[in-house]
Amino acid sequence: MNGATRGHGRWWRPRSLRTQLLLWLITLHVLAAVLTAWFSFLAYGNLVHNALDDQMRLVAESYTGSDQPKTPREMDGEAAFSRGAFIVQIWSADGTTLRASSWPALSVPLQPSIGFSDVSAGAHAQSSWRVFTAEPGPRADQPRVQVLQNEDYRRRRALRRALLEGLPIALLLPVALLILWLIVSAASRSLRAVAREVASQDERSPTELSLARVPDEIAPLVGAFNNLLSRVRSAFATQRRFVQDAAHELRTPMAAIGLQIENLRSHVPAGEATERFNQLEAGVTRAQHLIEQLLHLSRQDAPQRGAAGERVDIEVLLRESVSQLMVLADARCVDVGFEGTTAAVVFAPAAELRSVFDNLIDNALRYAPEGGVVDVRLHTFDGHAVVDVLDNGPGIPQAAMGRVFDRFFRVPGAAAGGSGLGLAIARTAAERHGLRIELRNRIDSRGLMARVHLPASMAQ
Ligand code: ADP
Repeated sequence: MNGATRGHGRWWRPRSLRTQLLLWLITLHVLAAVLTAWFSFLAYGNLVHNALDDQMRLVAESYTGSDQPKTPREMDGEAAFSRGAFIVQIWSADGTTLRASSWPALSVPLQPSIGFSDVSAGAHAQSSWRVFTAEPGPRADQPRVQVLQNEDYRRRRALRRALLEGLPIALLLPVALLILWLIVSAASRSLRAVAREVASQDERSPTELSLARVPDEIAPLVGAFNNLLSRVRSAFATQRRFVQDAAHELRTPMAAIGLQIENLRSHVPAGEATERFNQLEAGVTRAQHLIEQLLHLSRQDAPQRGAAGERVDIEVLLRESVSQLMVLADARCVDVGFEGTTAAVVFAPAAELRSVFDNLIDNALRYAPEGGVVDVRLHTFDGHAVVDVLDNGPGIPQAAMGRVFDRFFRVPGAAAGGSGLGLAIARTAAERHGLRIELRNRIDSRGLMARVHLPASMAQ
């Protein structure tokens, strides 16, 4: 079996702790029941044996001691085998002739030795008999008495008793199994709760797992995990600080370069130099955009200290966003339209909501062709408010749809000028405040539709 895969292990050591415990418990119980039964069979067998021997002696004495010759009461073999009835034989004084017998069909001769002996014979060759041969009486003509009992009956009786002794242990087994099952279930429930807590962690700012309901045996594991989490947290914090500091440090010189370029523009001779100059300016703008996005991203990654939420009128917010991006629209001669057919209010920090819509509208404006059309629509869909941002650009290939929200992912061949961070930032901000972004290529015409579903309860 491959070491990395989870199998069932060998039958005596399954992977499941519960199965392992149950298997061992069943084995031990069965063993205990068998041992108890065996020992009590031995002990009780002896007891039964002696008690029945005494009874045989008494029965024999009751015949030898009486002055009146007693005749044993006849019975059938069934009584001898199933009820262990004593068979009394009265023999002639010389022991050669059987005068009377409770079961004449049984042909066990008078034993030569006085007292107890075991005989295997009779009408049923395989049956064995316990025999008590009484001493001859004081008078020479007194008849001889012999008492017999079926040996199998004695063994059966001892066995039945022994099984009864083992029964309570066997009966306890299901109860013990049930209790064990419940204990293990409770333990695995708390393990599952820990697993759920781990699964629901925000990987960028993991929080410590609670030890409150964790069994003592698992507490060290959770403790070690918490330790690891705190190291992961500090590693993330270091990484975030680095990105933040680097972006911050780059921001000022980049702004200075931007200003220098603007100042230089009037001195650049027309012709090829201007073309190169324009490329340089576009590069600097792109770098500035990337720095801003990086700063935004690192701020977004910082653990949220309850950024103040407010009632934000989405229509007002969208109008602000569109008018701020008008510069970009004008530069690319894109026709931007806004249409609001419903009122919507969301309770969240306005800056966070702005970053959702700014990024989507910015993308639409950048990917729409020169002279293209971008529409922003606030309307009701399926009973809740949505914001659609539509463009007539190239759309996103279906194969890349699942990855465009990843950080730094850009569709191969996409227009230059992006950082691959816009959608990642938009999605994180959206999810944080109960909004959902859906991207779909338009079927009515060319282009992309980015739909933002607003939280239903907030829509008005
Ligand atoms: P970028 O800064 O590159 O635009 P984003 O995270 O905003 O980064 O977008 C990721 C990728 O998704 C882009 O590189 C682009 O290929 C694609 N994309 C995003 N918006 C659109 C759009 N409106 N039309 C076509 N492609 C888009």
